[in-house]
Amino acid sequence: MNNWVVSFGNGGRRALVSMRTSRPEPIVRDLVLVGGGHAHVTVLRKLGMHPIPGLQVTLVSPDPETAYSGMLPGVVAGHYYPDEMHIELAPLCRFAGARWIQGTVTGLDREAQTISCPGRPDIPYDVISLDIGITPSLEGIAGAETYGIAVKPIGQFLEKWEQFLERARRGEITQIGFVGAGAGGVELCLAVHYRLQQEGLDQIGVNLFAEDDTVLPGYPLPVRTHFIRLLEKRGIKLYPRFRVVEISPTEMFSHRGDRVSIDAPFIVTRAASHPWLRETGLALDDDGFIEVRSTLQTCSDDNIFAVGDVASNVDHPRPKAGVFAVRQGPPLYRNLRRVLHGRSPQPFRPQQEFLSLISTGDRSAVAAKWGQMASGAWVWRWKDRIDRSFMDRFNRLPAMKPVMKAPKKRDGLLADLDEQMRCAGCGSKVAGDLLTEVLRELGIAVEPEDAAVYTPPPNEVLLHTVDGFRSFLDDPHQFGRVVVNHALSDIYAMGGRPVTALAAVTVPYATATKTRELLVQVMRGIRDGLNAEEVALVGGHTTEGAELAVWLSVNGLAKPDDIHRKGGLVPGDALILTKPLGTGALFAADMQGKARGRWIEKAVESMLISNRTASQILTTGGAHAMTDVTGFGLAGHLMEMLEASKVGAWLSLDRIPDLPGAYQMISKGIASTLQAGNERTLGERLHGRRGDLRRALVVDPQTAGGLLAGVPGADAGRLVEELRAAGYDSAAVVGEVVAGDVTIELRQMGVKSSPSSAQG
Ligand SMILES: Cc1cc2nc3c(=O)[nH]c(=O)nc-3n(C[C@H](O)[C@H](O)[C@H](O)COP(=O)(O)OP(=O)(O)OC[C@H]3O[C@@H](n4cnc5c(N)ncnc54)[C@H](O)[C@@H]3O)c2cc1C
Repeated sequence: MNNWVVSFGNGGRRALVSMRTSRPEPIVRDLVLVGGGHAHVTVLRKLGMHPIPGLQVTLVSPDPETAYSGMLPGVVAGHYYPDEMHIELAPLCRFAGARWIQGTVTGLDREAQTISCPGRPDIPYDVISLDIGITPSLEGIAGAETYGIAVKPIGQFLEKWEQFLERARRGEITQIGFVGAGAGGVELCLAVHYRLQQEGLDQIGVNLFAEDDTVLPGYPLPVRTHFIRLLEKRGIKLYPRFRVVEISPTEMFSHRGDRVSIDAPFIVTRAASHPWLRETGLALDDDGFIEVRSTLQTCSDDNIFAVGDVASNVDHPRPKAGVFAVRQGPPLYRNLRRVLHGRSPQPFRPQQEFLSLISTGDRSAVAAKWGQMASGAWVWRWKDRIDRSFMDRFNRLPAMKPVMKAPKKRDGLLADLDEQMRCAGCGSKVAGDLLTEVLRELGIAVEPEDAAVYTPPPNEVLLHTVDGFRSFLDDPHQFGRVVVNHALSDIYAMGGRPVTALAAVTVPYATATKTRELLVQVMRGIRDGLNAEEVALVGGHTTEGAELAVWLSVNGLAKPDDIHRKGGLVPGDALILTKPLGTGALFAADMQGKARGRWIEKAVESMLISNRTASQILTTGGAHAMTDVTGFGLAGHLMEMLEASKVGAWLSLDRIPDLPGAYQMISKGIASTLQAGNERTLGERLHGRRGDLRRALVVDPQTAGGLLAGVPGADAGRLVEELRAAGYDSAAVVGEVVAGDVTIELRQMGVKSSPSSAQG
């Protein structure tokens, strides 16, 4: 028998909970939404209100938030905070019962029905929709890529905008230029001009370069005239018929050879498509945008939809504007639903005319429709109301009621299940084949024996440990990597080196195809994580259960004299912590849809940092004792060390590094379910003011947390520097070992005035 065992539950009809959602039904089909564009956020919201039993929804987007460009000029002008123009995708996905996978899609295989993102396994789909917007065209503008400040992607723009403001405040900017005089270009130009005036930087010249002989081509004459006069009045220099062909750090060149001194070139040119679409075989128009029909399905494939700026509607051509993307949300949702249920999609005819609201920087705006226009502060207030209510729809979601019962009525997706279930659950033979296939695909070679054989080298001892948990992350690949880090930490904490691992994987109930796809994702995460640590995966066990879960049994080696135990701390030792705390509170908040995506992104980044190098630095640096900080929290694990060493310690609450967002969530009373138990276990042995937020952090359970080591006090500063240089940016001395009772005293040293998450 193979030393990788596959077992299944009773195979009967049970109410099982699909991964990370409270839906009690198996996964039958995959809907993948690529890009958190304007139409997709509506689809997600609607799916949250009307879930489709049996459907696994996945949103793939590079960022945990998506920008609403209609508010960008307001952000630039200083009327809104950047947060106000962003829709949080992670909580929206939570609401929709969808997974959010962070990634930038770079390929689509229509045959295999997969999409690819660098650094992770391909993601399978049954039905897919692309709402990935555009980038400003840099074609024909030499130097634009290097020196230009492109308005999209907006996340990158906002970073460059902050850098620009710093340079302007330092007096390094004399002239700025805007390449592109469409609605976006003019609006942004006026907003930047306004902001510079407000900042007292009115000596900076503002220039607008128009390819045509006017601004706002396509808009009625009164609108164009209005804006030309406004630009003049504001002292913004307009360069008509100036096609920018080259940008240098200090100049801009036209197609006629004219040159203008410009220190900061903003690029708001016409839309360009994503180059990778050309490799997909999708039907594209001459400019590379995806051709779609009136049903919003692509002209090439019935199961591939495209919406927003990236789509080119052959039945109803329309300009690229957010308003059309927003309007496509509801028909896209309806048609996705219909296609998933095997019904014909319905045509959608977008409106011919649309209301254009163009702000003029100074809390005033122009409205244009049907050749008419109106302007004034009231138009801006109107636009402000429209924009804010749009954002509220996604950032103020109705409370979710967890669904724990199996759906009463058989939905279309579950109707096929009997047939498919037999394939998935009728015995280990088929599933065994399936696992073999997955292992082969991933290049994981396991010996066909009942158990793995490993001969330890002479003079070394074996260290054994087991650790794991059920999935708390949307991305199974990422989850696999986090479990590896978490499980190997025990070996590193002992000063050993892990050599072999056995994996026990529980996959949620699904059809055979979906089980296989999920196994590939999670096993690849485990494999990638172990490969990075040079640990061999020598066997395992796969079973079917309520949710995705991974456990790893790890073996490590160490020279007997090199082993670090929990005991060994001596008074005067400095306590070094290598990673920030807060994962317990953050993921508790995430489950409730209350955590910001950026916080979760940072927490995952921290969890993905291996403790290997930290262990080496601390071991060679003379650590007296070491442990890894996991479920019992910093104080719980420290207490284990103190008990073993028969000493006490104090912790400086001000010095304990925290993950962004952790304090915000703790201050809202959000805590991991384990936190109260940790506090109880410590009882009176943990001294210090109750109710202090930072006290909650020291008992916050950690996943893939850092190492806690006691090192000679004199070496602590040097070791922290070494750790930081090695990538443990938050490494810090957090306390000291003292003689006396086995207790932990929580102190405030006044070193750090506020929790770092206040910036989050
Ligand atoms: C300054 C400015 C102001 C504007 N003001 C208005 C206005 O007031 N009204 C109006 O109607 N229009 C306005 N527009 C136009 C508007 O921005 C676009 O028409 C609108 O954003 C298009 O929406 P979308 O859903 O197609 O894509 P987007 O809103 O651009 O969203 C695309 C999403 O896809 C993601 N993505 C991109 N590539 C990938 C990938 N490879 N893999 C995964 N995800 C990816 C992005 O991160 C993003 O979340 C303005 C444009 C600018 C530049």
